[in-house]
Amino acid sequence: IRGRDKLIRQYNLHKEAGRIVEMASNHQGRWQELFGNDNPIYIEIGTGRGRFIATHAAQNPDINYVGIELEHELLGKVGKKAEELAVGKNLLLTPADAVRLTDFFSPGEVARIYLNFSDPWPKTRHAKRRLTYRDFLQSYRSVLQAGGAVHFKTDNRDLFQFSLNEFAEDDWKMSAITLDLHNSQWMEGNVMTEYEEKFSSQGMPIYRLEARPYP
Ligand code: SAM
Repeated sequence: IRGRDKLIRQYNLHKEAGRIVEMASNHQGRWQELFGNDNPIYIEIGTGRGRFIATHAAQNPDINYVGIELEHELLGKVGKKAEELAVGKNLLLTPADAVRLTDFFSPGEVARIYLNFSDPWPKTRHAKRRLTYRDFLQSYRSVLQAGGAVHFKTDNRDLFQFSLNEFAEDDWKMSAITLDLHNSQWMEGNVMTEYEEKFSSQGMPIYRLEARPYP
């Protein structure tokens, strides 16, 4: 069986098959052909179970969304969520490691990148795996169009602190920074992720920022 069919069978993604893009690198520079329009492309790295991206896609049919998730089996859950919310063709899902992001998208192809509750990798020797490590920021800079931004939220104070430093060191302009999203002016329109709901219900503050590369 070919790779895509195997993936669909293995994880029982039959219903979601239309949304699954097995080889993101095959579509570098040509995502708009897949979507069939010129709408802006927003991506989420590490969709988890997908409530965030599926809700955004349902609310914004004029924006194209690509969900990237390392754990293939989670994409079935994202697909089911999308079906539940009657999401149209503006959401595609790809099982992939974001470490290869610049193989997936051409320079300027992406308008926004969402990082939600990224794995904190608390050990110093794993710092390079954090999705806000400077090498990742450089790949984000490369795929983002002018004016494009990274939107980042986390419950993890150490990861947030690390990220502030990495963005600053790599010369990004940060804005809409809050140490308590749920009691801030940026709560309006906020879509809670599964992790966000869990942590905030335990009374933990949610940290959030936007960052844009300086030209
Ligand atoms: N964003 C979801 C939420 O807030 O509920 C999930 C958060 S979970 C802690 C982090 C997710 O990111 C996991 O599903 C993990 O598999 C995924 N992930 C981690 N590193 C990744 C990478 N390099 N590329 C793609 N996905 C990644």
